[in-house]
Amino acid sequence: MRREPSIIIVGGGPAGSAAAIELRRRGVGRVTILDRSAYPRLKVCGSGLSPNALRELERLELKDILAPLHIPMRGIVAVGPGGRSIELRGDHGAWIVPRTDFDHTLLREAGRLGAEIREKTRVRALLRDDNGRVRGVRTADEELEADLVICANGSPSQFEFDHSPRYGIRTIMGWWKGATLPAPDQGIFAWSRQLDGYYAWAFPEPGGVVNVGLTIAERSAASHGIRPLFEEILEQEFSDVLRGAESMGPWKGHPATVTTRISSELVQPHCMWTGEAARLVSPGSVEGIGFALLSGRIAAELCEEHFDPIRGFSSWHSQLYRSRLAVRMLPKFLAGEAFVRLMRSRGTIRMLSRLADPKRMGQLAATVVGER
Ligand SMILES: Cc1cc2nc3c(=O)[nH]c(=O)nc-3n(C[C@H](O)[C@H](O)[C@H](O)COP(=O)(O)OP(=O)(O)OC[C@H]3O[C@@H](n4cnc5c(N)ncnc54)[C@H](O)[C@@H]3O)c2cc1C
Repeated sequence: MRREPSIIIVGGGPAGSAAAIELRRRGVGRVTILDRSAYPRLKVCGSGLSPNALRELERLELKDILAPLHIPMRGIVAVGPGGRSIELRGDHGAWIVPRTDFDHTLLREAGRLGAEIREKTRVRALLRDDNGRVRGVRTADEELEADLVICANGSPSQFEFDHSPRYGIRTIMGWWKGATLPAPDQGIFAWSRQLDGYYAWAFPEPGGVVNVGLTIAERSAASHGIRPLFEEILEQEFSDVLRGAESMGPWKGHPATVTTRISSELVQPHCMWTGEAARLVSPGSVEGIGFALLSGRIAAELCEEHFDPIRGFSSWHSQLYRSRLAVRMLPKFLAGEAFVRLMRSRGTIRMLSRLADPKRMGQLAATVVGER
């Protein structure tokens, strides 16, 4: 019989908590989550759970405990680069659960199932043996040995799995009280010209709060003056929404990392990467929560099926992890990237400005937010 492995998970966001929950449910290993923050903690995020993410929560049997914390987003208003808009109501709808509550609930569930949680514990480095194999982590205070380290530390990750260039997205967002959306269960996506294929959003949160933000690729020149850009977008796209609303504190930003490829280096013998640390975020929508949950669950599945504390994982297991992720994620990532390219093209902008075919634009927008 294989001995029970000791598993350290770096980061208690959706990827780390999902991995811990699934490991504990499967009875695999002694699991410790290390997170630099103290929970509940703020996470800069639109907090939108797409139909994809909701399906993943169902698979993880987490939807019921989150249900009391959500408000539904049953439709969106999609505003094209020319300023024309269209209303979309999907068959499935999305949820908004503020990340402070969402992440805290998942982390508590991991603890309830037997994972040890250590907050305010920043991991400084991966420890390696003489052969370069990961053997644990170093925090500010100590060295912790483990059979397996799962990096779920988000973006930008300080623990790189390969040296391919990062596809970075800049973001900025704020929260407002008393803002008026077209309907209480309706969000807004605006593909403004200045955002070079990316978009601004306004999402309803519980308690009459609305979060508003924008995403733009780091490679776009306009991303370097993101604050004035946000002021301009707020005025241009959201002046009706925010009229009379009260800003709830300073605007915040956080870099996101998106991808159109899934690396074959996400598994080493005694280390693996999940969630945004593995760059598993869709270009186009910058959706990452569902992919973080999914990759955490698949990582746990792989551990149960194949991890040996002495030999670790092999290169075949690395390919297996990659292919399990790729089959579920790559089509969505490629569709997201195609959407960004389309929205950047002058021809498309002209076409959408005239809004010759509102139905087609609706279908495109529905694809990018995961309704189709
Ligand atoms: C502005 C913005 C809006 C977004 N909106 C959406 C949205 O509406 N819907 C959606 O699906 N996705 C959205 N995303 C993407 C989504 O937030 C991420 O993809 C998702 O949080 C990734 O989850 P994760 O668990 O991999 O990483 P994270 O959620 O980032 O969690 C990583 C955890 O690791 C901890 N950590 C980091 N470094 C260390 C260290 N060295 N030692 C110990 N702990 C560490 C952090 O404290 C954190 O708790 C948005 C992103 C941004 C930036």
